[in-house]
Amino acid sequence: MAEFTMELNDEQKEVRDWLHGFAADVIRPAAAEWDEREETPWPVIQEAAKVGIYSLDFYAQQYFDQTGLGIPMAMEELFWGDAGIALSIVGTGLAAVGVLANGTEEQIGTWVPQMYGDANDVKLAAFCSSEPDAGSDVASMRTRAVYDEAKDEWVLNGTKTWATNGGIANVHVVVAVVDAELGSKGHASFIVPPNTPGLSQGQKFKKHGIRASHTAEVILDNVRVPGSCLLGGEEKLDERLARARERAKAGGGERVKNAAMATFEASRPAVGAMAVGTARAAYEVALDYAMTREQFGRPIIDNQGVAFQLAEMRTQIDAARLLVWRASWMAVNGKPFIAAEGSMSKLFASETAKKVTAQAIQILGGNGYTREYPVERMHRDSAIYTIFEGTSEIQRLVIARTLSGMSIR
Ligand SMILES: Cc1cc2nc3c(=O)[nH]c(=O)nc-3n(C[C@H](O)[C@H](O)[C@H](O)COP(=O)(O)OP(=O)(O)OC[C@H]3O[C@@H](n4cnc5c(N)ncnc54)[C@H](O)[C@@H]3O)c2cc1C
Repeated sequence: MAEFTMELNDEQKEVRDWLHGFAADVIRPAAAEWDEREETPWPVIQEAAKVGIYSLDFYAQQYFDQTGLGIPMAMEELFWGDAGIALSIVGTGLAAVGVLANGTEEQIGTWVPQMYGDANDVKLAAFCSSEPDAGSDVASMRTRAVYDEAKDEWVLNGTKTWATNGGIANVHVVVAVVDAELGSKGHASFIVPPNTPGLSQGQKFKKHGIRASHTAEVILDNVRVPGSCLLGGEEKLDERLARARERAKAGGGERVKNAAMATFEASRPAVGAMAVGTARAAYEVALDYAMTREQFGRPIIDNQGVAFQLAEMRTQIDAARLLVWRASWMAVNGKPFIAAEGSMSKLFASETAKKVTAQAIQILGGNGYTREYPVERMHRDSAIYTIFEGTSEIQRLVIARTLSGMSIR
């Protein structure tokens, strides 16, 4: 097990500086344009693929970094550049993690490379779980997967919504109900291969922020996928369902619930790190502005009212990063989340990003409110962090339940 450290090693520092250079030179200058266009920034993703940032190798290297700092460091730098573009670059990784975490070696080898394509022919992937009536309440999911034994195929029917890269992805990972009586324990994940008939994009959403990232409905109309597309394989699913049925009969189910919770606890710090990146970006703009903007014959930072705000912004950002790094280190090293530390990190970092970006607008005054300066975009972007991968209210619920052992509602 790697010791927890707050110091990046030399190799990590090199990667961080390289990512920062890409974020500063390629992502940030393109941010305003793609925010206005509200389209997937393909040229930027292609550029990221060319230099090796948009690649399975790079993502896997950070994902398996034993210090736990690889993913948060990478997320912070890319999202410092711009949240919408960065989500377009890392969205595939979020779907790939679903396969890396639950797939067989063969499934990982077959599908994950197809999620990325290559630098000359870039591809995307989408993770489709949310539905119009199943957001926070995942157990209300309606999309069904029925096994057709004669053809060894699964048949998927339903409507997914808010899927990042939904409908434009080469590979979709779809969560569906295989046993409705078991609630969320009766769900399984499926790969939908490229160009599978029956999968189509529904409405593409016009959003408040992260507008360079594509978010859409995904319609599944009698989508047939081979039996081999069930993530983890049939044997593992049968065993899991049998255990869940036994526990349901005995009135239990805690272990299954804990396994699912551990997965979320492990993925939430990455979202916290995205929020830290956006918050840091806005703070830096605000600090620079406060040092140079003069009113009443002196820089505005010469007033405690402004300086103290900046002091507080920086303190909150550093505290958020520490929570994120701790949770990420715990996840990689298999430390039990006895106080829902993953949820804590996401809750604190996402709320911090919303607060800090709003303070940045205030410090920039009228300029902060215009699109001439990036902080209004950063503020719009930051609102997503308290919503996706579990809203702030759901994080508080998870933390409170974990601390108390009670099923608080
Ligand atoms: C831009 C964007 C990208 C997304 N990308 C993806 C993706 O790639 N794949 C995917 O599957 N999903 C994705 N999502 C969906 C996202 O995860 C959901 O929006 C989120 O889980 C919240 O669900 P909901 O929107 O249905 O809100 P609801 O669950 O309807 O919640 C509405 C409000 O009620 C509160 N609330 C609900 N239940 C409780 C409770 N028990 N106690 C207290 N408060 C409660 C919530 O906190 C929230 O404030 C994305 C969403 C957005 C906006």
